[in-house]
Amino acid sequence: MTVKSELETIDAPAEPSATLEAEAPEESPFVTLPLLPRWDTVVFPNMVGQIVIRNERSQRALEHAANTDSHILVVARRNPPPQEISLENLYEVGTEAAVGRIIRLPDGLMNVWVQGIRRIKLQEILSHDGGFSQARGRVLEERLARVTAKTEVRMRAMLNLFEKYVRLSDKVPEEAYVIAMNAKEPGPFTDIIAGALTVDLPQQQELLEMLDQRRRLTVTGQMLAQELDVLELQQRIRSEVQDGIDKSQKEFYIREQMRVLQKELGQMDPIQREAEEFREKLDQSGMPEVVQKRVEQELDRLAAMPSAHPEVTMVRNYLDWMVHLPWKVDQEVEVDIREAQRVLDLNHYGLPKVKERIIEYIAVRKLAQDRLRSPILCFVGPPGVGKTSLGMSIAQALGRKFVRVSLGGIRDEAEVRGHRRTYVGALPGRIIQTIRTAGTINPVFMLDELDKVGTDFRGDPSSALLEVLDPEQNHTFSDHYLEVPYDLSKVFFIATANLLEPIIPALRDRLEIIELSGYTEREKIGIARQFLVAKQLRENGLADRQVKFSTGALRAVVEHYTREAGVRNLEREIGNICRKIARTVAEGDRAPDSVSAQSVGKYLGPQQYFFGAAELEDQIGVATGVAKTEQGGDVLPIEVTLLEGKGVLILTGQLGEVMRESAQAAVSYARSRSSVLGYDAGLFEKTDIHIHVPAGGVPKDGPSAGITLATALISALTQRPVSRDVAMTGEITLRGRVLPIGGLKDKVLAAHRAGIRTFVAPDRNRKDLEDLPADVRREVRFVWAQQMDEVLSVALTPSIPALVSVG
Ligand code: ADP
Repeated sequence: MTVKSELETIDAPAEPSATLEAEAPEESPFVTLPLLPRWDTVVFPNMVGQIVIRNERSQRALEHAANTDSHILVVARRNPPPQEISLENLYEVGTEAAVGRIIRLPDGLMNVWVQGIRRIKLQEILSHDGGFSQARGRVLEERLARVTAKTEVRMRAMLNLFEKYVRLSDKVPEEAYVIAMNAKEPGPFTDIIAGALTVDLPQQQELLEMLDQRRRLTVTGQMLAQELDVLELQQRIRSEVQDGIDKSQKEFYIREQMRVLQKELGQMDPIQREAEEFREKLDQSGMPEVVQKRVEQELDRLAAMPSAHPEVTMVRNYLDWMVHLPWKVDQEVEVDIREAQRVLDLNHYGLPKVKERIIEYIAVRKLAQDRLRSPILCFVGPPGVGKTSLGMSIAQALGRKFVRVSLGGIRDEAEVRGHRRTYVGALPGRIIQTIRTAGTINPVFMLDELDKVGTDFRGDPSSALLEVLDPEQNHTFSDHYLEVPYDLSKVFFIATANLLEPIIPALRDRLEIIELSGYTEREKIGIARQFLVAKQLRENGLADRQVKFSTGALRAVVEHYTREAGVRNLEREIGNICRKIARTVAEGDRAPDSVSAQSVGKYLGPQQYFFGAAELEDQIGVATGVAKTEQGGDVLPIEVTLLEGKGVLILTGQLGEVMRESAQAAVSYARSRSSVLGYDAGLFEKTDIHIHVPAGGVPKDGPSAGITLATALISALTQRPVSRDVAMTGEITLRGRVLPIGGLKDKVLAAHRAGIRTFVAPDRNRKDLEDLPADVRREVRFVWAQQMDEVLSVALTPSIPALVSVG
């Protein structure tokens, strides 16, 4: 049964005789009140409600009423604004109302409580000099309805409907029902209900003008029933739509409700509570859909497990990893190339070429965005030359986090890619672990010691690294532990290595190599003065500029307390001095405000290194070579001793295959030149030749010691000392030709560092000279040799001028 028919059975159809004419009897009193025209609602007598007023004239009218404690006349407009306020544009019947609290709202609006009192027939509009309109009208008398049993039944039925109406409508406050319930007379009762109906304005006005209460009761009842029908229909549609929402969402709601209920009841068992906590984090993690599905499966498994289940820990750890890994980009920072340049310059002394290449690389990456897969940056150079700090500066310039992981000594693929979960104590690999520490999906990620990655039977970590570093593949990096792909494509990888050669070619192909060589003494002093001193003062709690290091002091530290390509030990020694001064300060003694060359020894103890030639005097059978090492470069003395014997060649000092062959070539060369160089070729049958390269613990290899080996040997054979101020490098052929070698820059820097001022190198390496800093080029005398004879004429003392002409 519909609402309407329910009402019709209660009462007879409404009587058509009731008049709609709102006539005020002659004798009824006049009122003159401030006028409040409305175009959206009708205010009914007995109704209490709020209205919002924008119009300034109306606001003044209300204020006047409030100030003078008078009522107002609310009249609905036939025609909405901008029609002017006139008798023709207003309805004839309005409502006298009391004014309650007025609240001024921020944007010029006014909120006011009004209570309808009685119906007024509008007769005249007057202007008040307070800047608002007034209206004169007559009070209307209603035709009262007697309260019979029939009207009572009718009212009760209507109240019933009204209750449902209030419940379903989100516009009518609950109090309206209570007020209606307390209204015993049909007149006020209908007015209250009429005021709550959301029918349109003309219909509302019709009810206002209806002075016959009995008729009004009937018509209001009909309108109420209609409105309720509409509301119920809406409600049904809404619930049908909700039924239509997909299953997963429904499950979500049910789960949510269950969660709330269980929480309320304090019933959740710890595992379930944990699962719920994971679920909450999962929702915030922003992980891709595939991953989320996988994690949800595990969550459901966890939630279904009894807490003593052996796999609980495993699943829990897995979930912990998944929800704590970063999955989305928090914020993309616009790359500002000029800012990047500024940051690099701010943090690093010199290195103009390196900085330029870094900036170019960043610029290309910025331009290409995702379209071009750029190679991975790789800094190659000895320790302490600023590889790490350049990486940090790049991160700073790009506004990204910085993380690093060392690959040194990794042999097992699982260290890169993780272990499968079934493995006891399994964890993700180092890449994913480090990403988690970073907490963002797009950090600057430094892979240190790429040249120290090894291989063994447990798989090749380089192949996993290939995947990490390959822009074509790394958006779906697979870690055995995670089981789902992880996107590494937003990561800014930078690899570092001390040497280029040990990096496998496949990896090398993916790298944009930037080489950093060691610093010269001058550069080191510059770095110390501009950066390291201030940094160490700060780290040791001393004020900026509290202690001044003289240039002499810095030079003393560089020359006598460090021997390195980079500035790591230099920084440490400066730190030592600062710490000792800080201690003096802490003990309350007068602390020095400067460090001079003389006082360095006081802080650092006896000199560790003696600057100057590698050997103290010219020696027979000892020549100075140079080698490129992980530390940059190093001078490498080579010793030869001739012993009575049977022509055996003894090689010691952990020499590699290539170096051994070099030694043999040197011997053969020396043998073939015996007549020219003036020793007996027969010597080789009765003599054992022992060649030793000290620093025996370190394996050495490569062809570039060839000319040094030959020089030491010939020195021993001719009994001529080798000049201690000469260092040399170059491969030797059996015919005594000098072939080019690699790493000249590092080798020269090493020799220069060791105080050597004459450097013999293959003629074909002449082109590398331009890479060297100007001060080194100035201070070192270069001898570019094509033939071994040229080497000997420089290295052996006294020199053998006769040899120069020998081709
Ligand atoms: P690497 O990573 O190459 O071993 P680091 O980046 O750790 O070297 O550098 C060691 C220290 O030397 C750091 O404190 C670094 O800031 C500083 N350093 C190295 N090169 C420079 C430079 N060109 N200018 C300023 N400081 C430098």
